[in-house]
Amino acid sequence: MDAQLIQRAAKDILHSKKTIAFTGAGISVESGIPDFRGAQGLWEKYDPEEYAHIQAFYSNPDRVWLMLKEMFSLIMTAKPNPAHIGLAELERMGLLSSIVTQNVDGLHQAAGSKNVIEFHGTHRTLSCLKCSTKIDGTSLELEDLPPRCSRCSSLLKPDVVFFGEAIPWEAQVISLKESKSCNAVLVIGTSAVVYPAASIPYTAKEKGAIIIEINKESTPLTQEISDYLIRGSAGEILPAIVEEVKRGKGR
Ligand code: NAD
Ligand code: ZN
Repeated sequence: MDAQLIQRAAKDILHSKKTIAFTGAGISVESGIPDFRGAQGLWEKYDPEEYAHIQAFYSNPDRVWLMLKEMFSLIMTAKPNPAHIGLAELERMGLLSSIVTQNVDGLHQAAGSKNVIEFHGTHRTLSCLKCSTKIDGTSLELEDLPPRCSRCSSLLKPDVVFFGEAIPWEAQVISLKESKSCNAVLVIGTSAVVYPAASIPYTAKEKGAIIIEINKESTPLTQEISDYLIRGSAGEILPAIVEEVKRGKGR
């Protein structure tokens, strides 16, 4: 972890009028939920390009539900890690306007963040693709999966955005507004290759925002728009930034 870059990030956050965070699967890896690119566990068995595509759900929902069941069992027992908690703390200090997340795990909210925009939906609710009935998924028992619609008995689909599906309209509108009006973006744990999500930091950059990237490895953003990359694990870097921000505030 580069101490100078931690200090620089803290300074940038303190000087920025409005800062947002843009997070991806990498921020939840230290909570035990594997990301897509870091090949381990779940995604060695299930190729996300295949299993997370809406066509796969339509043509073979039972098979896709096998993957969802494993993903849900991880999500349901996962706890926020110091990176989620650090972002919640920045929000409480009035230094973070919102989090645009590509994650569906709800860990930002569990950490106490209030203004969370779920760009790729959530695992907490499920919908019937036939009659649009929506149900609360948080009280579902894993043994009851895959669940069926109580009205028409079709298979339900979690309200997560599959490849090939549209982004929830409200999330798109609000995140565009946030990206156009911020002065700094903390990009954390995303490979930034899934679109349209990845356009968020580009939009912010076009409007003059500073792009602070926190990632284990470089991404397309690193060369193209990031002002700097703090390389390492988000669970270590975020608390260090928060500490430095607190020190800077006291000065
Ligand atoms: P990704 O898997 O493509 O990329 C993750 C990035 O995080 C990589 O660059 C990796 O180097 C980095 N990373 C891994 N561990 C890290 C750590 N401890 N600290 C900092 N960085 C770390 O993820 P993506 O860009 O979010 O795209 C995957 C898509 O899959 C998203 O749309 C997301 O909705 C979905 N997804 C969500 C979850 C979840 O909800 N937790 C999990 C897997 C996939
Ligand atoms: Zn139905």
